[in-house]
Amino acid sequence: MPESADIVIAGGGPVGLALARALEQFGVRATVVSTSTTASDRPIALSHASRILLERLGAWRGLNATPIRTIHVSQRGGFGRTLIDHRDYKLPALGHVIAYSDLLPALGRTLDRKPMNGTVTGSEAHAGQITVSVTSDPYSGQAIQHLRTRLLVIAEGTLPPIDAISAGATPVTQRDYHQSALVASVKTDNPSEGRAWERFTEDGPIALLPYRDRYALVWSVQPDDAHTLAALPEHEFLARLGTAFGRRAGAFIEAGERGVFPLQLRVRDPSPVPQVLTIGNAAQTLHPVAGQGLNLGLRDAWELAELAGSWPREEIGGAEFVEHYLRRRRLDRVGSVRATDLFVRMFSTDDPFARCARGFGLFALDVLPPAREFLARRMMFGARALP
Ligand SMILES: Cc1cc2nc3c(=O)[nH]c(=O)nc-3n(C[C@H](O)[C@H](O)[C@H](O)COP(=O)(O)OP(=O)(O)OC[C@H]3O[C@@H](n4cnc5c(N)ncnc54)[C@H](O)[C@@H]3O)c2cc1C
Repeated sequence: MPESADIVIAGGGPVGLALARALEQFGVRATVVSTSTTASDRPIALSHASRILLERLGAWRGLNATPIRTIHVSQRGGFGRTLIDHRDYKLPALGHVIAYSDLLPALGRTLDRKPMNGTVTGSEAHAGQITVSVTSDPYSGQAIQHLRTRLLVIAEGTLPPIDAISAGATPVTQRDYHQSALVASVKTDNPSEGRAWERFTEDGPIALLPYRDRYALVWSVQPDDAHTLAALPEHEFLARLGTAFGRRAGAFIEAGERGVFPLQLRVRDPSPVPQVLTIGNAAQTLHPVAGQGLNLGLRDAWELAELAGSWPREEIGGAEFVEHYLRRRRLDRVGSVRATDLFVRMFSTDDPFARCARGFGLFALDVLPPAREFLARRMMFGARALP
């Protein structure tokens, strides 16, 4: 069987495609295997660093991106608020909001070698190589092709239809937040002017991200409440949202289609078996409170490609390569996972002491620009402060 590519990537989501493009740029042969699914049009906030990465990959131009210029953070029923402003960091914007469904074709167009349609169902490592089984019909389980490669990268996201390769790699950390994210586009009677809002309530955080002429809402609530809210008639839903969020962004006057996503923290072993790496949501699924999931996944992809480009071709996927990658990514991964988890737990409790501590935290951020800058840069660039 001839070697198909230096690296096979399972999953053609944004992280898998970004990796494929970056590998092309670094001169490494890669094949993406992806199931064809309909991409959701849910909005996603990308940090300034992710914009730089997408520009390097040639996927930024033409994206319909709404800039986030300021972020207002506050808590309901307690003192303290802070405002993060792009001008303090001499950046054109802190980040941008784009549609997931726009990002996939934008990345896909940059690829010289188009993704292969199929589902990766298994793999077997032998003598420094790995054979990957791909089927066009995961339900019959019939493998139609075998690809021989040096490294298999699992970028199959959180809820893959078939989880055969990583089945042995049980999550090392799993936390059910007992929250679901209710997402919708909503309109207020005040223009957003590039302002994002993050409001912490005892039920969970509410984020409003500026998106075109409206806001993208990510409202974290208990799973039953999320489904109830999603089913309410529009005027009742807007009234409930107004009560929970307040009137800082104006009165809520319109809501688009609503969707519900379960929220959990799931962290897997990033190298479950020899010659296999997991990246993006397949490696770590975070609560969306801090909008870090895809940003972190894009950094996984970029750093993996950069390393592969600098490595002797025949040693890609070997133990030393894998170890190097894991060491390089450890601080950013662990830091982002822990910070996001701490945020959710600290800001989703009704405890009066916690509320007071949160208030002081927000107050301190507001009056101490270096602390605010540390947080802002950490959220935008990750632990290694890319670029
Ligand atoms: C409500 C909500 C809001 C969010 N907001 C933000 C935000 O503002 N900012 C942010 O950075 N992140 C956000 N995220 C997280 C972000 O959506 C994810 O981090 C990102 O989509 C992960 O990309 P991925 O490519 O790793 O996985 P996915 O996007 O899940 O893509 C994986 C792809 O692989 C395919 N696949 C699966 N299994 C196989 C297989 N065996 N073989 C071949 N192909 C396979 C799937 O069909 C899919 O196309 C949010 C998440 C949620 C739920």
